[in-house]
Amino acid sequence: MAENIKEQKIALRRLIRQRKKMFSQEQLHEKSQKICEKLNQLLDNNNYKHIMLYYPLPDEVDVRPLFDMIQTNKCLILPTVLGDDIVPVSFDKDSTFKEGAFHILEPENETYNGPIDLILVPGMAFDKKGNRLGRGKGFYDRFLQQHLQTPTIGVCFDFQLLDNVPAEEFDKKVNLVIY
Ligand code: ADP
Ligand code: MG
Repeated sequence: MAENIKEQKIALRRLIRQRKKMFSQEQLHEKSQKICEKLNQLLDNNNYKHIMLYYPLPDEVDVRPLFDMIQTNKCLILPTVLGDDIVPVSFDKDSTFKEGAFHILEPENETYNGPIDLILVPGMAFDKKGNRLGRGKGFYDRFLQQHLQTPTIGVCFDFQLLDNVPAEEFDKKVNLVIY
């Protein structure tokens, strides 16, 4: 049974990679911009102060426009990778970045130990129930296990929203998916 789910996950990751190839960089850029507008509106309408974003990989929704919210009174946080764990680090407009694991840029700041009010979660695929498919290393499953009370928003392109994403017992759902 579990083996079957793992195979389904592998097949879905392949399907998503194929779908993504059908869009140009310009098309993906345009989609990212629209998703950022939605996210920005959602953040405007809520009082989340300490917000964990993510630094996008080339094939993920580019949420970097949201980094400019730093100008306001929000505290922005990015994930860094330490071994098998995600470690949150805050950043501001003066922060410098360095390349971390998986070529992801990370702020060169100290670990952030304060509260987190909202977590944006990238994913290979989501379904409308909030099930999430990652890249297969379980980083967010482990991280969200430590933040069970924190609201989470999955972020993906429209073609990454599937009818049903298979879940194992350790998989963590998100509360809402924005696409
Ligand atoms: P992803 O979520 O990145 O798509 P998977 O859901 O396939 O990847 O998980 C990858 C691996 O991460 C799993 O095989 C599991 O062993 C490990 N994992 C997930 N959650 C936890 C956890 N809370 N504690 C320890 N290992 C975990
Ligand atoms: Mg998982």
